[in-house]
Amino acid sequence: MTIQWFPGHMTRARRQIQDKLKLIDIAIELLDARIPLSSRNPMIDEILAGKPRLIVLNKSDLADPKVTEQWMAYFRSEGHECVSIDANTGTRIGDIVVKSKLLLHAKIERQISKGINPRAIRGLIVGIPNVGKSTLINRLAGKNIAATGDRPGVTKGQQWIKIGTEMELLDTPGILWPKFEDPIVGYRLAVTGAIKEEILNIDDIAFHAVKELCARYWPAMKERFDLDTPPKDLDDSDEIVRIMEEIGRRRGCLIGGGRVDFEKVSVIVLREMRAGKMGKISLEEPLTAMAHLSVPGKGEQE
Ligand code: GDP
Repeated sequence: MTIQWFPGHMTRARRQIQDKLKLIDIAIELLDARIPLSSRNPMIDEILAGKPRLIVLNKSDLADPKVTEQWMAYFRSEGHECVSIDANTGTRIGDIVVKSKLLLHAKIERQISKGINPRAIRGLIVGIPNVGKSTLINRLAGKNIAATGDRPGVTKGQQWIKIGTEMELLDTPGILWPKFEDPIVGYRLAVTGAIKEEILNIDDIAFHAVKELCARYWPAMKERFDLDTPPKDLDDSDEIVRIMEEIGRRRGCLIGGGRVDFEKVSVIVLREMRAGKMGKISLEEPLTAMAHLSVPGKGEQE
């Protein structure tokens, strides 16, 4: 199920996070490493209101490692600590505790100098639906304490989950909305599977995927689908359709009269991309993403 966000829901989500912020020392902002900007809440700086924050690029197992490095450097240059993880397998999730301690170092030192025994760091995971919040909470907790999948509104009594002796997490994450107004954001969320296909047309999502993949990962596309020539002009929709037709012919997705079944092509492209058959893929790099989207805190400067 995909959450339908209306202004009232956003206000409620925001209020819920703000209530939780009072209880915690650090916010853990979870982003999808393949689309760090599109998976980001447009009001995050305002919502977190200066609370110490660790940026966590999740699903790094699916993202292009070179690009993930660029994003880490980018976020650091913006003054944020950043780690990249894979919550599914738990790869590098220990970095979250290490970096959180580092971020709160001064506060912890102050407590020690006053003779106070520092208590465990309290954290809250925040992020848009399907970015991997529940998976990460389960991984960090070491046992299944929260069901994965979309569970809007299942906030009963809040509990702290102990992560070793040094950190505690609120068991319910803060659920945020993405930047819907930008159609590119919508497509990128759909291509990566964060928005269900029923909301946008599958042919449109696949068209967008093919366009982005040809732009960034042409050699992988060429090899996977045995294609001949790349699109001459990526902004020419006929050229993208030509590639989709070629994929359809190669894979035998034909309907009457030798015409290509675009829906079948769309299912194949999206399924194979999401399963990593074209390798590790990132759809946003710091520089190109900035050209398309307004980067929080950057737009006003130009
Ligand atoms: P939530 O809505 O933010 O709580 O997201 P979930 O934890 O329910 O995860 C959404 C989907 O992403 C699930 O199918 C998870 O298995 C998958 N997922 C979460 N983290 C990772 C990861 O690091 N790598 C991969 N490949 N999949 C992940």
